[in-house]
Amino acid sequence: MSVTPAIEGWFTAGPDPVLVGSQCSTCATVFFPSVEGFCRNPACAGESFEMVELSRRGRIWSYTDAQYQPPPPYIPAADPYEPFALAAVELPEGLVVLGQVAAGYGVADLEVGGEAELVVETLYSDESGERTIWRWKPVTELGGETDQ
Ligand SMILES: [Zn+2]
Repeated sequence: MSVTPAIEGWFTAGPDPVLVGSQCSTCATVFFPSVEGFCRNPACAGESFEMVELSRRGRIWSYTDAQYQPPPPYIPAADPYEPFALAAVELPEGLVVLGQVAAGYGVADLEVGGEAELVVETLYSDESGERTIWRWKPVTELGGETDQ
């Protein structure tokens, strides 16, 4: 049995996984998923990119409960479908990345503005091994409210 990413090249493995995006060499805008060819910034004519590792932590920008199975290319982890929470997390790089919420967490654990950390978990298993995907894990702040 092997452990491989469900989507090749979008994130790293190991104890401190990160998402892999691309940064325009001209205007420094960061994109995830990574882009190539031309810069998506309409004010920029850049055509070269460097791979960059994104921050592991960001702020929850929005979240939702997925009560119905999303359309393809979503791959159901269980049959019948099990509802899960989705979080959109804003990273310091200035982009918002959507992801499932880590196993064991639900919308009750999330709040807009709260901190979330990237984790990599098993999405599903098949005959060739485990497939992994990134998820957002809410970070519990000890010591109450922090305003920054
Ligand atoms: Zn650019």
